[in-house]
Amino acid sequence: MTSRLSLKEMEELADRYSWLSPGESVRHNHNTEYCSGSSRSMLIKYGESNGIINASCYRCGRSGFYVVTSFPRIEKAKGKGTQSNGNKCFTNTGVVLPRGCVTDLSEWSPRARVWVGRAGITREELKEYGLMYNPHNSKVVIPSFYGGNLVGYQERGLEEGDIKYITTTCDAAHMIFRSKNTVVNGGSKAVVVEDALSAIKVGRHYPTYALQGVNVTDGLIAALRGYKHYYIWLDNDNKNVKLRQLDIANRLSVFGDTSILKTEKDPKEHSDSEILEKINGD
Ligand SMILES: [Zn+2]
Repeated sequence: MTSRLSLKEMEELADRYSWLSPGESVRHNHNTEYCSGSSRSMLIKYGESNGIINASCYRCGRSGFYVVTSFPRIEKAKGKGTQSNGNKCFTNTGVVLPRGCVTDLSEWSPRARVWVGRAGITREELKEYGLMYNPHNSKVVIPSFYGGNLVGYQERGLEEGDIKYITTTCDAAHMIFRSKNTVVNGGSKAVVVEDALSAIKVGRHYPTYALQGVNVTDGLIAALRGYKHYYIWLDNDNKNVKLRQLDIANRLSVFGDTSILKTEKDPKEHSDSEILEKINGD
C-alpha cells in the first residue's frame, strides 16, 4: 500500500532542496507525525531534464512529485556545469559548446568588439555570463543556463549577410537567456528583451530575460511566471516586432501587469540611468 505525499509536504521538500541541480539526488530523513526513525529513509531526486522533483520513502511507502519548472527556484550560479579541457568544452547535460572559442575580448573580431563596446558591456560581465567568440564561423557564442546547467547556446552572427541567431539546445522550454538576478517567486518587476547584451545591461537593475529570436512557446512563457509586472522592451524594428510584443504581453498578462516599452534605440544602447528611468517612470 502506497500513498501520496501531500502537496504541502512536497512543496516543503522542494523548497528545502531547491539547491538540487537537475540529475542530482539526496537522502532525507522523513520525520513526520506518521513516519519516524533514525535513517534517512527518503530519496529525493531532481529529474535530469524534466524539471520534476520526486520523493519516495521506503519507511512509510509514501511518494510524490513536484513540478519545479512551473515555479522556478533560485537559479544557481552559472558555469557550474561547464568544464574546460584545452579548447574542448563539455558539460554534464549533453550540450557541447563549439570548440576553439576564445574568451579574451582582444581576440574577438572588430565587429564583435564594437557590438559589445557600443552596449557598454564590461569584460567582467562577458566572463560572468560566459560569452565567447568562435573564430571559425565569426560568431559570438551565448550560453543559456538553467538550474546551474547549460541547456543550450546561441550563436550570434554579426557579419554582413550573416544569419542572426543559430540555436542549439537540449531543453527548448528553458532556452532563454537570463540575467543573474532572475530569481522567480514573488518578484516585482521583470523585463523581456530580445538580445543577450540588452539582458545583461538591463539585468544590472532588474531581472531580465532575452528571447534571442526564438519562438515564444507556452513553456517559455511559463518559465517567466512569478512577477507582478512585466516590461516588454524589444528592439522596435518593424511590424513583426510590434505583433510579437503584443503577443508576449497578452500571454504574460495571465501572471501580472504588462507594459510595452517603445524606444528609438535598443535597450542595450541606453545608459544605466535611462534604463532606471524607463522602468520606474512607466
Ligand atoms: Zn516516510
